[in-house]
Amino acid sequence: MFDLQVINATIVTSENTYRGSISIQGGVIAAISEIPLGNAKQTIDANGLQLVPGMVDQHVHFMDPAETEREDFIHGSSAAAIGGVTTVIEHTHAAPVRSVKAYNDKINHVCGRSVVDFGLTAHVFPEDLGNLKALWDSGVVLFKIFTCTTHGIPTLNNDELFRAFKEIASFDGRCLVHCEDDAITEGNEQRLKHNQRCDHGIISEWRSETAEDIAVANVALMARLTGVTATIAHISHSFVIDLIKREQAEGAKLYAEVCPQYLFLNDKDVIEKGPFAKFTPPARGTDQSNKLLDLINDGSIQLLSTDHAPSTSEQKTTGTIWDCNFGLPGVETTLPMMLNLVNEGKITLQRVVQLFSEMPAKVLGLYPKKGCIVVGADADLVLLDLSRKWTIKNEDIISKAGWSPYHGTECTGKPVVTIVRGNIVVENGSVTGNPGVGAPVKRVLKTR
Ligand SMILES: [Zn+2]
Repeated sequence: MFDLQVINATIVTSENTYRGSISIQGGVIAAISEIPLGNAKQTIDANGLQLVPGMVDQHVHFMDPAETEREDFIHGSSAAAIGGVTTVIEHTHAAPVRSVKAYNDKINHVCGRSVVDFGLTAHVFPEDLGNLKALWDSGVVLFKIFTCTTHGIPTLNNDELFRAFKEIASFDGRCLVHCEDDAITEGNEQRLKHNQRCDHGIISEWRSETAEDIAVANVALMARLTGVTATIAHISHSFVIDLIKREQAEGAKLYAEVCPQYLFLNDKDVIEKGPFAKFTPPARGTDQSNKLLDLINDGSIQLLSTDHAPSTSEQKTTGTIWDCNFGLPGVETTLPMMLNLVNEGKITLQRVVQLFSEMPAKVLGLYPKKGCIVVGADADLVLLDLSRKWTIKNEDIISKAGWSPYHGTECTGKPVVTIVRGNIVVENGSVTGNPGVGAPVKRVLKTR
C-alpha cells in the first residue's frame, strides 16, 4: 500500500509532457505509471491539472534569525509552499553564516520552522577564506560573495576575490556572486548626495548599469582564471550576458541567474514606486524584460530565482529613499507570474521547470533527489491549475512583507497543491503543512 498517489495528472517535466499517475512511499516517488496502481492511503485526482516537480529557489532571504520583523522562516517557507516552491536555499545578511558553528546553529534553529526543505548559503568575508572548505563539507550549499559593500556585507577586493575563487574551485564548491563595482556605486552615491538628490531617480543612477557591467566582466574573467563554478546573481540587463558569454567561450564555468523583478518591472516602475521597487541592481529600461525573456528561451540564462527579500510597508517608507531596505517579496508570486507568461505563449511550462527546478537542483548537486520527477526522487510535487483566474492582492500575501509589487495583477494559472517529500503542505491554495515538515537538503552528487 502506497502512502499517497496522484492520479490522472498531466505530468510536465523538463523534457516531456505525458499523462500518468505517481505513487509515493516513504517520501519518495515509488512508481510512475500510465494508469493508477491503486492501493494508497490517500489519493489525489489530478484530472485537468498539470503536475510539475517542486520549484527549487536558490536565492531567498528569510531574515531568521536576525530581522524577523521583516520575515521569518515560518512565514517565508509558507509563502514558498503557496508559490509552488518546495526547496529554498536561504541566507540572511544581518546574521551571516561564516563558520561551521554558525552553520550548525542555524540549521538547528530552522529545523521546526520550515514548511519546505531548505539549504543554507554561507557568506564569504575577506578574513574567513580559511573556513570555506570546512563549511562546504558541513553541508553549506552555496557561498555568497559581494563585489560591493551592500546589506552590511563587505566587498571582496580583487586579491580577496581571486583567492576566494581559487579556494572554492579547489573543492569544486558553488558560489553566487552579487556583481556591482564598489568604487563606481560609491562615486555615484557621493555625487548624488553632494547634489542633494533624494528623489526616486537616484536608485538607477546610483546602482548604474556600468557598475554592474564592470563587476560582471571582472568576476567572469576571474572565474575563468581560477576555474571556479560561479553564478552571476540577478542579472538586470542583456549586455551582462554578452560579458558572460565572452568568458564562457574561453572555458569559464558560469551560470546566469534572473529574477522576476527584471521580467515584470522596469525603470519607470522604479521612479513611480520608489521604495517599493528599490532593489539592486535595479530594473532597467522597458525593452530589457523582453530581451531577458529571449535570453531565457535561447538558453543563455539558465536559472530563475526570486531573491525574496521582504520588508514591511512601514519599513519601506521609514526614512529617505537612501535609507530604506533594498529588496522585494517574491517567493509566493514568482511561479504564478511565470504561468501568466506560459499562458501568453511567451515561454513553455517545460522551460519554467528547467529554469526554476531542474537547473538549480543540478547546479547545486541536489539532482536527481530534487528538480525532477523520476522513481527514487523526493516526492516534491506541485499541481497547477493553468486555467484558474485570480488576482494578486496585498491582503492575501503570506510573507511578513504583507504586500506585493504585483498587487492588482490578474493571473491565469495557480499552484493549487504542493507536496514536500510526500507531505501535502498546500491544498486548495491554503497552507496545511506544519513548520517542521521541511528538512535540510543534502548534496546527492558530489560536485567533483
Ligand atoms: Zn539576494
